[in-house]
Amino acid sequence: MDERPDQAAPFARALKDVLAELAAHATSGLDHAEIDARRARFGRNRLPEAPRKSLASRLASQFKSPLVLTLLAAAGIAVVVGAGRRGSGESVLARFGDALAIVLIVALNALLGVVQEGRAEAALDALQKLESPRARVRRDGQVAFIPSEELVPGDLLELEAGDAVPADARLLETVELSIDEASLTGESTSTDKDSGAVLTADTPLAEQATMVFVGTTVVRGRGSAVVVATGAFTELGKIGALVSGAGNDPTPLERRLDSFGKQVLWICLGVSGALFAWGMVRGARPWHVLLLEGVSFAVAAIPEGLPAITTITLALGMQRMAKKGAIVRRLPAVETLGAATVICTDKTGTLTQNEMTVREVLAGGLPYTVSGRGYDPTGAIQDALGGAVPAMPGPLEELVVTFALCNTATLRNDASAGTWHVVGDPTEGALLTLARKAGSPREDLMRSRGVVREIPFDSDRKRMTTVVKDAEGTVVAHVKGSLETLLPLCSALRDGDGARPLSDADRLAIQAEAERMSAAGLRVLAAARKPVVDDADPESDLVFLGLAAMMDPPRAGVREAIAVCARAGVRAVMITGDHPLTAVAVARELGLWTTGDEALTGPELQITSEADLSVRIARVRVFARTTPEQKLRIVRAFKAAGEVVAMTGDGVNDAPALREAHIGIAMGRSGTDVARQAAAIVITDDNFATIVEAISQGRTIYRNIQKFIFFLLSSNAGLAVAVFATSFSRTWLPLTPLMILWINLVTNGLPALALAIDAPDPKLMQEPPRSGLASLVGARDLLGLAYVGIVMGFAAIAMYAWTYCAHAAGPQGPRTLAFLALGLSPLFHAWSCRSPTESLLRAKPLVSLPLLLVMVVSAAIQLIAVLIPALRPVFRTDALSSHDWTMVLIASIAVVPAVELAKMLSHLARRRAA
Ligand code: ATP
Repeated sequence: MDERPDQAAPFARALKDVLAELAAHATSGLDHAEIDARRARFGRNRLPEAPRKSLASRLASQFKSPLVLTLLAAAGIAVVVGAGRRGSGESVLARFGDALAIVLIVALNALLGVVQEGRAEAALDALQKLESPRARVRRDGQVAFIPSEELVPGDLLELEAGDAVPADARLLETVELSIDEASLTGESTSTDKDSGAVLTADTPLAEQATMVFVGTTVVRGRGSAVVVATGAFTELGKIGALVSGAGNDPTPLERRLDSFGKQVLWICLGVSGALFAWGMVRGARPWHVLLLEGVSFAVAAIPEGLPAITTITLALGMQRMAKKGAIVRRLPAVETLGAATVICTDKTGTLTQNEMTVREVLAGGLPYTVSGRGYDPTGAIQDALGGAVPAMPGPLEELVVTFALCNTATLRNDASAGTWHVVGDPTEGALLTLARKAGSPREDLMRSRGVVREIPFDSDRKRMTTVVKDAEGTVVAHVKGSLETLLPLCSALRDGDGARPLSDADRLAIQAEAERMSAAGLRVLAAARKPVVDDADPESDLVFLGLAAMMDPPRAGVREAIAVCARAGVRAVMITGDHPLTAVAVARELGLWTTGDEALTGPELQITSEADLSVRIARVRVFARTTPEQKLRIVRAFKAAGEVVAMTGDGVNDAPALREAHIGIAMGRSGTDVARQAAAIVITDDNFATIVEAISQGRTIYRNIQKFIFFLLSSNAGLAVAVFATSFSRTWLPLTPLMILWINLVTNGLPALALAIDAPDPKLMQEPPRSGLASLVGARDLLGLAYVGIVMGFAAIAMYAWTYCAHAAGPQGPRTLAFLALGLSPLFHAWSCRSPTESLLRAKPLVSLPLLLVMVVSAAIQLIAVLIPALRPVFRTDALSSHDWTMVLIASIAVVPAVELAKMLSHLARRRAA
């Protein structure tokens, strides 16, 4: 074997030569010693990673924002001003305190930015690892799922519809295999593959029917293949494709915040420019002092922390969601989730356990019941009177054999635990269990027969066919599928005496029996067969054999989750390929179905016009017998009705609907790679309850972002009002830039972070979803901001005026009081911000520990500026009397009753309006 396996040759070479060159075994695969040796030789099956941003370039990018540049310009001015005060007798620290503080703040901001960016990226990386692709291989004679990274040349791959091809491989066997190679060749239609095709050495990549390539996906059919190239040696690797690092493109929310921040920035700069100009006209103070005042105003009003706190909130939220089983693949989904108004969910596996057990059988016109649990074959088939069936009647025997042969699943017995489980489709597993209960294990059947042809199951056709040749050379087609698709293909009926023509009365009787079973919530599968001569169509003129009805119990927690949805104003809608009666019965059992709800079937949907659908869709609770293509139409109809749609999917054909939905949700366990790649969120346990939990998390994250935005903006407004108002006085000492920056950094940033991680409010899931993509800061919020700004700002100014007039403190006393009040009031105000409508006394939990901690720490840092005598000249503060302290406390707390009163009044107004 070459160090670099030859990638051009295997497609044109005979299979046995390829296997010989790779020293690969065509049935049992590689053994472990060989795998280790090859991994050491070829490395991991990964494409080279895109280089990461260096620390220096990360740091540099923090200095690109206009805000930081403004601050740096301010620092420059402060240096000039400080230098100009030489000889004034002030210490160097006092003279350059402002400049130093600004530089410190810029540096801290940049550092925080880098740390937060790093944390967010690490969170994304960790999530990507959770989502790392897996491959199905045969090693040491056993089929196993392994991380795709661990594949080596010579490994035997098993591929089926929906799989992402994990490495370049030469096909050994193909059953109707078709691959979407658009990512590699640009070809938009899928390419049919054939392991037996004979190709010349100059066959172009797009026509290499004997090969599959990494980066492409299986659209249809199945196959097996031997890996010929991994990692950088693959076709994709050779064209220099790189693994993209964690995607951290800004989300719509971040983008909106960014543009909002810029607007605020320009407004603030405009106002501070006006302040400066007005000061110059009045000639009140020297130009450089005015300039610094202008900059201080800008700094006071600009919400610096907004983007950084938003990013970290989203990243932390994603981590929390991942712990609960919802892996976010696209960041914007975190914010959209909270706005979801409709969840379109699959039935099987999401609402139900996808653990099927056949309960009833109809064969040869006679009903049977089946006992036993799960896939354990120790049950029995009984006749209608509950008696044992000692010798299998012919029709029953044939039905069971067809179900077992038209089947790709296998049953496994975990001997130590004494449990049975299925590898493959649970529906087929249930049929294998039935066969064992009837004494016809599939392994025994397969030993005496060989599969000639197979048309795999797909949810569009809703049936599957296997053509099998028995020991005597008779070729028989075995077909199983939904009754609606199978019955029209049948022309005869198997009864106790053999096959006879299928009459209309027979058809009606069979349908009636199937409907009775479906109405009991059972999933019904029909079976038919016929001998096949030569190339005859295996799916026509079939002999109808009978029905099997299986139970699939609801998943634990789903009923409760559906009730939560109902309270939260989120409409849960079932979309299933199953029969409408089965679907409605399951919906009823789960509390999903209420009076006035409607069920719409795929065929009905087909003939419903867009206009009719837009009217009906509000009442439809169950879409049954739908095809994946119809899912796309359903999503679009909901979107047109103004709904924010979350849609689940698992199959390869679900990808377009998953992409079209506002939030595409793929199933982690049963879902295909294709569905996962198309989805924004992957649910690891496939449970509907996890989706509802994710919505609740999404709402919490959005609410927390709203909380800290309101907090930051309103506190900044308070500071801005105070700075603006004091600058009009000729005699008052204005707040120094250092004071303003200090307040900004110490008492605004930390509480905002605590609000960002505030505990979920249990009432959030009792409120209707927020309206679509409503703006974060609405007109009412703007009013609120102005209100808080005025209350907070004027409380400080009132105290300033009062102390100034009373001459109760030293020369810098009034300013010190205002500085403390403005610094401490956000710490109290943050508690009010925990709910925009509810009283802070009704918050749950009543005390937020992070906020309490932040309050103590921030207050301590704020007080340093006054309590430590050595720092007083730097901050230009004075010592305060106990009377002054009482005043500070009153002025700081004033904002709380004011905001709570406003909440109460607006609550009353809303009640009256309702
Ligand atoms: P969901 O509720 O998640 O949409 P579903 O299991 O109801 O999934 P499909 O898997 O598309 O939907 O199945 C649709 C119908 O096809 C079933 O009601 C059944 O009649 C038939 N069917 C399902 N699995 C098989 C299979 N393996 N072979 C043949 N027919 C099948």
